[in-house]
Amino acid sequence: MEDTSKLKEAMFYESVGEGRVQCHLCARNCIIAEGRVGACSVRKNIGGKLYSLIYGLASAVATDPVEKKPLYHFFPGSSVLSFGTVGCCFRCEYCQNWHISQVKPGDYDLRDIGRPETIPSRIRRDACDGVAFTYNEPTIWYEFAYDASKIVKEHGYYTIFVTNGYMNPEPLRELAPYLDAMNIDLKCFRDELYMKMSKAHIQPVLDTLVLARELGIHIEVTNLIVPEFNDDPKDLKNLSEWIVENLGPDVPIHFTRYHPDYHYDAPPTPLKTLIQAYETAKNAGLNYVYLGNIMKTEYENTRCPTCSTLLVKRRVFFVERLYQIKEDKVLCPKCGTEIPIVDHRRKVI
Ligand code: SF4
Repeated sequence: MEDTSKLKEAMFYESVGEGRVQCHLCARNCIIAEGRVGACSVRKNIGGKLYSLIYGLASAVATDPVEKKPLYHFFPGSSVLSFGTVGCCFRCEYCQNWHISQVKPGDYDLRDIGRPETIPSRIRRDACDGVAFTYNEPTIWYEFAYDASKIVKEHGYYTIFVTNGYMNPEPLRELAPYLDAMNIDLKCFRDELYMKMSKAHIQPVLDTLVLARELGIHIEVTNLIVPEFNDDPKDLKNLSEWIVENLGPDVPIHFTRYHPDYHYDAPPTPLKTLIQAYETAKNAGLNYVYLGNIMKTEYENTRCPTCSTLLVKRRVFFVERLYQIKEDKVLCPKCGTEIPIVDHRRKVI
């Protein structure tokens, strides 16, 4: 039998007979035969037990501005130590990170980043305020991300997931005490399009958005607008209205520009389409709408929804905070409106 001494047994699976296991980490709920991997290619059934093949193994480690995730209402201007590995439970035709998301662990030169206990000292060394699991889908790296997040939080730093939102409710509930913020990708607003372009369903993503909010995790939504896929104004209106009704008008949304990549070859998203999406979301009642990858600062800045005072000025990743903080609350300095920005700098150990 394959040597499992260097592997980590997976969380959230059960035996379902005849040597098969069922993984319940994400909404795919894969049934995996002996010797096979799940749809994400990083969880393998060895001898009737499920193992993570990527515990402590990274494809990328970098220091990023938190705005790059993108998170605009969470410690603006801070730096975050960012980790990614390989694999994904989605199959997006237009994936912008396909070189790491659509490969198997054996096909990539993964770097051993050591035990989770080493991460707080790396955060300190790189002058960061927290850690992000990003670049590929972090859900499928759950065991490492969970252990690392627990330790990082014990030291007073923040934790972030940049995710497709396909995690099942039970793992999310278990992770929630150690997870501060999520940027969740809501790819479109029709199930048949989700299936066509990502080989996934929309409902688990919507459920994750609602549950994450209920669990007190700071959330922001990203919608990459891909021409001839999810740029229908009616769908963008429905998507925005759903957010207002189910998550509230203060959840930030980022419409970002697509560039041709992987199997999809449409031209980059026209600026006109992005501006139309911005107007649609504003008209639907969303207070904080941003456009990404377009280099137009007026769509990156944060303004007070009551009096339009400039609160956060952004130019690419340069950030100037112009709001007031009183008793851990972020306020507009002109009219006093409370702004939903998390920015209570913590005591770290
Ligand atoms: S995490 Fe991987 S193995 Fe588990 S259900 Fe999702 S795709 Fe399947």
